[in-house]
Amino acid sequence: MNLLTDAWIPVTEDRKFKHITLKNALCRDGVWDIALPRDDMEMATLQIVICLVQVIFPPKNATELKGRLAKPMGEKEFDDGIEKFIDWFELEHKDYPFMQTRGMKDKKVTPIQKLFVGLPAGNNDAFFNIPDEVQQSCSSCSVIVLFNQASNCPGFGGGYHDGLRGRAPVTTLVSGETLREKIWRNVLAGDFIASNNFPQIQFPNEKPVWVEKIKVKETILAQNVGLLRGLFWQPAHIELISEMRNVVCDSCGITTDTSFMGFRSEKFGNIDNKKTPGYKFSGTWMHPHSPAQWGLEDGKKAYRFLSFNKTAPSWTQMNDIMLAKEDANEGNNPASLISQYKNIFLGRDVTLLIGGYLNKQSSISGRRHEMFSISAGWDENRDTLRDYIQIALKINKVFRGKIYGFGKAIGVTGLANRSEERFYADSERYIHDTLRTMDWRIAKKERGQFVDKLIKLVWDIFGDITRPYQNEPRMIKAYATAKRNLIKEFKKIKEG
Ligand SMILES: [Zn+2]
Repeated sequence: MNLLTDAWIPVTEDRKFKHITLKNALCRDGVWDIALPRDDMEMATLQIVICLVQVIFPPKNATELKGRLAKPMGEKEFDDGIEKFIDWFELEHKDYPFMQTRGMKDKKVTPIQKLFVGLPAGNNDAFFNIPDEVQQSCSSCSVIVLFNQASNCPGFGGGYHDGLRGRAPVTTLVSGETLREKIWRNVLAGDFIASNNFPQIQFPNEKPVWVEKIKVKETILAQNVGLLRGLFWQPAHIELISEMRNVVCDSCGITTDTSFMGFRSEKFGNIDNKKTPGYKFSGTWMHPHSPAQWGLEDGKKAYRFLSFNKTAPSWTQMNDIMLAKEDANEGNNPASLISQYKNIFLGRDVTLLIGGYLNKQSSISGRRHEMFSISAGWDENRDTLRDYIQIALKINKVFRGKIYGFGKAIGVTGLANRSEERFYADSERYIHDTLRTMDWRIAKKERGQFVDKLIKLVWDIFGDITRPYQNEPRMIKAYATAKRNLIKEFKKIKEG
């Protein structure tokens, strides 16, 4: 299967499941949506398509990017564009299979299910509980999980590297009405790439890592990695195993003539490993699809990519995701594509696709894939947006603190966590709705209403959490203290 010419992009059209080609996606305005049984795999599919388009059809500047959005690409232009890349994007190429290494000698075949992260053949069962749920998958599903494992998940553990963004990076993409919009809104224009210091390496001087392989004991400098190698980085030595056989794909359900049952891999980890030396990656490759944070280490900025907090919903990290911050000792940058969207589409609303995994070392303990919309005008009212998120965080923090004190005073543990979870659950819809429908011209005036609503919500939770204890004589004092302190703190927050 070739990613540039074959139909592999899983979509629904008139509620029917089918695969379309990259050419269909770029050269036609079909009414289709990427569709798979799992939303993490849907997002990975869109990521692959965006990466392909970024590498093969980078627009020169904002004007050209807007032109791409305005009308589908001509078929001739598409054919001419992909020609020189075709050989590099063949899943079963005899020498250079896409994101794989030929000739893995390991006798052991790992079931394909391990690439469907979260399934039991991995070392966790966060999403599904049936062993052997995916015993065989089609070319399309296999290529999607291969990319997802390399880009969005922790590495395979000891003796293997994680991807370029670390173990569990958050990915943020801009959504759109049509598939074409979802693709082009996330492709960086050449002038933006240049001004953001991405190395611009022209074809054929840069080859993907499965064609020009990472050498054993090689030290790779981030500043020498261009978009083709970086976006399709494969940290592991891995080779998929397939056979020609008519089967039904256990993942998407289509009938396929090529069945992927497993893979072989070889350890290729740290450069100084005596038995199986690997490579060293020096510096941070500023992946354009992820927000990053930095702190100072030895006087220099040390970056890491944003990960999800364990229990907190994504709105709690919205300031890191959307807004740049630069203090003396720390700061954060939104994903480059978000910064570009702000520049090119100033004054528009934005719907984000946010996704990522929660990890425990090299295993995955959960995932979060969601949409988040912010109404038009947010980019010119960044301080107000920041303020709204901070207020909600502050109210939660104060509440959590006082409930913790209450629990301690009466000798009951776990109340603070329970309260926080309730706050997240009960406020999430309201916070989403507020930001999605906000009229930023009057946001400052509406601030009081927003605060009141969240505080009311906290009092409801406070009542529920403390009710079992508030009438016992020795607890009355703790209850009264918590209530009094909350009133005091909330008054401060309201006065802003
Ligand atoms: Zn499939």
